[in-house]
Amino acid sequence: MLKPYGMLFAFAAMAILLTGACIAGDLMHHSMTVSIYPPDNSLLAVDTVYVAGVHLESGKMTFLLNRSLEIESIESPYGIKWYSQEEIDPAMLKDEPDEDDKEFIARGKGVFIEVLEPLPAEGMIPIVISFSGVLYDSLLPPDRNYSRGFATTTGLIDERGTYLSNGSLWYPFQFDFSFTFRLTVDLPPDYMSVSQGALEREYLDTIRDEKRLVEVWVERNPTPEFYLVAGRYYRHQEVHNGTSIMTYTYETSDSLSQVYLDATRRYLAMYEELIGKYPHPKFAMVENFWQTGYGMPSFTLLGDRVIRLPFIVHTSYGHEILHNWWGNCVFVDYDTGNWCEGLTTYGADYLYKERQGEEAARDYRHQTLITFNNYVTAEKDFPLSAFHERHDSVSQSVGYGKSLFVFHMLRLYLGDEMFWRSLRSFYGTHRYETASWEDLERAFAETSGRDLSWYFDQWVNHTGLPGVSLEAAWTERAAPGHAVMFTLRQSEPSFTLDVPVVVTTETGEVRRSVRLSETEKTFSVTNESRPISLEIDPDFNMFRRLYTEEIPVTIGGAFANDDGTIIIGNREDDTVRMSFSAISHALGIEGDVVNEAQSGAGDLTGTHFWFLGRGDALDGLLRETEVDLAGDRVTVSGSEYEIGGRTFICALRNPRDENSIITIVLSADTESLPGIVGKLPHYGRNSYLVFEGGKALERGVWEAAGSPLRVDFRAR
Ligand SMILES: [Zn+2]
Repeated sequence: MLKPYGMLFAFAAMAILLTGACIAGDLMHHSMTVSIYPPDNSLLAVDTVYVAGVHLESGKMTFLLNRSLEIESIESPYGIKWYSQEEIDPAMLKDEPDEDDKEFIARGKGVFIEVLEPLPAEGMIPIVISFSGVLYDSLLPPDRNYSRGFATTTGLIDERGTYLSNGSLWYPFQFDFSFTFRLTVDLPPDYMSVSQGALEREYLDTIRDEKRLVEVWVERNPTPEFYLVAGRYYRHQEVHNGTSIMTYTYETSDSLSQVYLDATRRYLAMYEELIGKYPHPKFAMVENFWQTGYGMPSFTLLGDRVIRLPFIVHTSYGHEILHNWWGNCVFVDYDTGNWCEGLTTYGADYLYKERQGEEAARDYRHQTLITFNNYVTAEKDFPLSAFHERHDSVSQSVGYGKSLFVFHMLRLYLGDEMFWRSLRSFYGTHRYETASWEDLERAFAETSGRDLSWYFDQWVNHTGLPGVSLEAAWTERAAPGHAVMFTLRQSEPSFTLDVPVVVTTETGEVRRSVRLSETEKTFSVTNESRPISLEIDPDFNMFRRLYTEEIPVTIGGAFANDDGTIIIGNREDDTVRMSFSAISHALGIEGDVVNEAQSGAGDLTGTHFWFLGRGDALDGLLRETEVDLAGDRVTVSGSEYEIGGRTFICALRNPRDENSIITIVLSADTESLPGIVGKLPHYGRNSYLVFEGGKALERGVWEAAGSPLRVDFRAR
């Protein structure tokens, strides 16, 4: 639900910034005073930037600043010559700039500075830059075909709130530098600000004849980002293990704040035990006036509706907190692939399921595999080394889904204790540095004493979803007891796989893992008791291709492919047909719309089909399934659903084409249809949905039919 840490547009800056570890010499310091004027959408700032003289080539440097900010003066005790220029060649600032880099650079103007006097070999020199102007980038609606989309802006100062990030270029930004800062911000007295680091002072003052609240934020740890958020907030604050924990909310709701403060305490304790000491002086939950789920170093910015969703505190909130270790303390080397989303999702979203119970964890793994199988075709697949951030379901499935499996399988291979010990060592070594997949590999290899280069290479640098088949299985008498013999085969190109095997015997279960690196190999598992069944990876612990039988048909499966044919049924009356016709484009399906009242529906194979309303073609097709449509009722595999006054939607396997999904939409309440269709991508994990008005009254997943990876010996 929540976006990756940092923000969409900040990414461009991050990609440029985070090349190479931040050694001390690359460090800069900002000592900045900024006045925020929400009614005018403007700011007025004086930033004293401290730069190490020894790193300035011939005394020259370039900053980027938002084009709408006016520079009033630039001064230094060493003497300064400067000019600014709007059209700059991105290649001057970044080697091989990509589209994101270019877009980022185009928002700014280049500020070219030359220091005139000889620079000291040691210490830092101050450059004082004064600037002011309006910052208001309107919120843009999210990409509509991506269910996780949010409205976005690069930054704005507004009466509802202020949001400034690297992407806003609201401060003199320089590539390849991390920095520390001291930020003195003054605001109208009914506002409060949030930034990184610690709130060290807060007082009321009169500035330019106005009463203002002054707040001082100090960040002592290197950071590649500079955030300033403000709003009409109430603050609640407690202390946990030396860390200030805070909430900033628009209403003075003690109960909502308390829920978040308690959760913060729990998560900090959990991750301090698993990984190491929380790296920042505070953690704050900050409410936002548009719907976001951003995780910044030491705070999270959550939409006002988001924080009131009851499940957020149990899921995404912990995820954002964990980003303070992964991403906001150990930084990501984007050029070699973003490892931190997979690791954070594994240590948060997944681990919470595991702590709920094995069934919840199994469901989560199964769902992750289903999504990958549905969305990531061989043509769309790309290696983890090329993942930067998610922007659609494919990048989400690779950068989060596959990535979390890389950590899961590694944990199964190394064991719990070794897995967490390796991560503690990784964290201890790379705090406030950028780290890569290679650094992770080194931490796991050194801690466990094993060569893991093959493992990281096959999962990080290569694409592909291994397919494992059970070619043969039989039992033999062994002395003493019984042997289960089985032959596994894998698709080309072959992977080295630890394949989980479960043999159920008359006295219990035997769990093993067998290593398959050949295309085909025969294994045996012996046990004293008589074997009843053999199952290969029944709990979805392996990143692999699923069989059709292992994937329940869902509405998401139908959406996974943009193609499809929409058929408007001929047995609905004119008004209903018109309503269906009106929503057909809103499904976002590319392909034909067939109005059955005017033309035939064809042989119903070769693509997915969306049946809007009852018609002859649908009836003909349903005769070949277990679905019965009679009057106001639908019966699916014995379960009955009332349509009367409602909307019923379900996805089924096409009886005439196993690669095709048919989705049926029946409605006795066509007024609610447009709203329902808009929400449908959010319900992708369901096989069926019953809506009353715009509300999902019932929903669920068909049970998946057996698996070709299971053999029952008793049946023989
Ligand atoms: Zn994340």
